[in-house]
Amino acid sequence: MADLTDPDTLATSLLGGSRAALSKAITLVESTRADHRAMAAAVLDRLAPRTGGAIRIGLSGVPGVGKSTLLDAFGSMMTAKGHKVAVLAVDPSSVRSGGSILGDKTRMARLSVDRNAYVRPSPSSGTLGGVAAQTRETMLLCEAAGFDVVIVETMGVGQAEVAVADMVDLVLLLMIPGGGDELQGIKKGILEVADIIAMNKADGANVEAAKAAASEIRSAMNILAPRSAAWRVPVVTVSGATGGGLDALWGEIDRFREVHRENGAWDERRAEQRVRWLWSSLDAAIRRRVLSGADWPTEIAAGEAAVRSGGRAPSAVAEDILDHLGLRRGEAEP
Ligand code: GDP
Repeated sequence: MADLTDPDTLATSLLGGSRAALSKAITLVESTRADHRAMAAAVLDRLAPRTGGAIRIGLSGVPGVGKSTLLDAFGSMMTAKGHKVAVLAVDPSSVRSGGSILGDKTRMARLSVDRNAYVRPSPSSGTLGGVAAQTRETMLLCEAAGFDVVIVETMGVGQAEVAVADMVDLVLLLMIPGGGDELQGIKKGILEVADIIAMNKADGANVEAAKAAASEIRSAMNILAPRSAAWRVPVVTVSGATGGGLDALWGEIDRFREVHRENGAWDERRAEQRVRWLWSSLDAAIRRRVLSGADWPTEIAAGEAAVRSGGRAPSAVAEDILDHLGLRRGEAEP
């Protein structure tokens, strides 16, 4: 067994497709220990040139819409086509334990035992920003390990969707027909980040309702200002239960990739995402350094108390903290 405590060996094993190495690296990415983070950063740095090979799909939809069922069917269809599929989740609302990994296994019964698939539940620690950062790094590890389809699932409709839109190439929004009032319960924000919409559960007695709901959404999308002249958001009908429409759904995903590669938007979006992630990594790193300063707890507590009581301005205390860290103030800040 290779020595997975050495960043070079870990990176090499992971590139060779070792599952043990992938799991180990993901554990490091999700750890809060400083030595683990340092090791994770070293591994990610080595792997950076070998990432980016996957199509990155965000999957959103309210609970009950059929995400797990669809992922199981869609993921299995993709592995049968010869792809390697990773399914990651971003769910900052629930603190998941070992037990819910089992939960995910039953949620995606076929995919979780598929040798060409990797199903990973949401990291449980911390804020949305922290969970999103860990998921993004896990996505990069999966790419380096040879997964060429990465699906990042969110479990609701809210800020997590926006965080996920910022790490993927396209957002797939799953909906179900809901008695004519299709837009109820859906925040406009999620429609604005959706690149493809799939009306799910189009099977059995539900087919007509799903088709009607899809055309209603199509009209609604016509009212929203299009984000891009090159892409009109397609609305397809699918059934995760029967697999109906999943091939056509993949066709739309592939067409999205072709169109945006062709016009340069694909690479541009990724480059912008990487730069945004640099800045949010910097924010997180500064925060960690501030909090880990040896003689700091009392100083920070005093600053926090002064802000809590309203005696001092948060912005001024923040500047004091940075001074204390030795970061010189520039003459003219950007
Ligand atoms: P999630 O909460 O979005 O992951 O949804 P699930 O995949 O757990 O599905 C929620 C419920 O809808 C379950 O009872 C499923 O059996 C049912 N369901 C999921 N997909 C379909 C589908 O394509 N057609 C029908 N008729 N039912 C479905």
